[in-house]
Amino acid sequence: MTNKTTVKTLLILGASGDLTGRLLLPGLAGLLASGRADGLQLVGAGSDAWTEEQWRKRVDDAFEAASTKAEPDGKAALDAVAGSTTYHQLDVTADGPLAGLLSQLEGPVAIYFALPPHISQKTCEVLRPEQLPPGTRLVMEKPFGSGEESARALNKTLGALVPEDHIHRVDHFLGKATVLNILGLRFANRFLEPVWNRNHVEKVEIVFDEDLALEGRARYYDTAGALRDMVQSHLLHVLALLALDAPATLHERDLRDAIATVLRASSIKAPLTDTTRRARYTSGTLGDRSVPDYTAEEGVDPARNTETLAEVQVSVDNWRWQGVPFILRSGKAIGRKRKEAVITFRPVPHLPTGFTGVDSPNQLRIGFGPDVLELHVDVNGPGDVFSLDRAGLVAELNSPDLLPYGEVLEGILTGDPLLSVRGDTAEDCWRIIEPVLQAWAENSVPMEEYDAGSAGPRGWSTNADG
Ligand code: NDP
Repeated sequence: MTNKTTVKTLLILGASGDLTGRLLLPGLAGLLASGRADGLQLVGAGSDAWTEEQWRKRVDDAFEAASTKAEPDGKAALDAVAGSTTYHQLDVTADGPLAGLLSQLEGPVAIYFALPPHISQKTCEVLRPEQLPPGTRLVMEKPFGSGEESARALNKTLGALVPEDHIHRVDHFLGKATVLNILGLRFANRFLEPVWNRNHVEKVEIVFDEDLALEGRARYYDTAGALRDMVQSHLLHVLALLALDAPATLHERDLRDAIATVLRASSIKAPLTDTTRRARYTSGTLGDRSVPDYTAEEGVDPARNTETLAEVQVSVDNWRWQGVPFILRSGKAIGRKRKEAVITFRPVPHLPTGFTGVDSPNQLRIGFGPDVLELHVDVNGPGDVFSLDRAGLVAELNSPDLLPYGEVLEGILTGDPLLSVRGDTAEDCWRIIEPVLQAWAENSVPMEEYDAGSAGPRGWSTNADG
């Protein structure tokens, strides 16, 4: 499918920030180098008194890796954008300066809010619809609000400015290729769908364990924690893709309707002492690095009682999934990096008498980044054919040619909201975890501990050695 860029100008607010330098600009570079964003104007804005040269240097540095590998046409596209980009110093929260800048830009404009969330919100509150060039797209980063109420208020603010399909709430966790891999696996094959339900599936685990600790990100992470940072947005979306009913088409309305329907049926049931767990790392070793206690990390306030590992059991109350636990887990400073969904099937109804050896349940593992598919089945073992043995059928799936933020930007620039989170879904994701946030804030669920570099607290079944 060839997509046509409809956006003429990409305006990045927060030009000096970490997201812009580390993810957005390199993502844009890949897109330009592949010839999929021809004719785009890039404009940076921030509160820093940067000169145009400082901003261009930042853009050049971020484009360098893509430029070295690019074909002549791609290199020309990168040079054209880097050579013409402009920088504007302004306080985006003041009434007037941003509107003044927008009036000078060629539309349609995509405004990327690479800003602290409360600044993004304030910026939108001072904007008025008539100040936006026709066709403007608003791009919001996570976290989208801080709870269901605030997400609803933010949706209302944005909805007063542009139509819903011009609002892109970014969730870059699963790139386009991975989303389509899951949908292709589930709906372009006949054999899975008949067993993809409560009659055959015992449990679904979705795990994102990082072998990184805080890495100097206390300012953001210590006020967020694993539940808000990972489970509230990213992992609930993976759940939705695994649990949704077949959409009629892959157009955004059908797919996002199906995602919304399954998340509306999802909740975390009381008692939360049974369905949720949290923990925090203590000192340990990650690779060859010593890691201090989380509470001793620079910038951490122990009084916030922030968790670095969260696990919740989500119920999806519909015909297909009633009674099947969806266990979502994400942690930092875990010894082994894991980014996967594991579907465990029920045991066979009767194992013919005569077979010996281990009768283990079938498991389908879907690894994310690199995308891998593994199906674990029981087969006859070597030697004694009555003895069961385990075999893993492994396939590496094609990797995308763009970085995740290249895919995000491609969707925005071509006006395709397929991978953007819809407003009602953003609110629902908060609705699902809010009881847990409250129970944890009240200390109703104990804070456990695990050594940095271990598999997690002793006894958790989702530990890699569990
Ligand atoms: P940073 O703190 O690194 O950057 C924020 C940027 O906003 C800075 O350029 C800052 O400029 C600018 N800014 C702040 N106040 C104003 C103002 N009043 N007017 C104009 N500019 C202002 O944050 P990040 O880049 O890390 O994050 C940005 C957003 O992206 C956040 O919502 C975050 O949650 C999200 N995000 C970040 C990720 C990451 O890896 N960094 C990953 C996923 C999402 P100055 O310093 O001059 O004030």
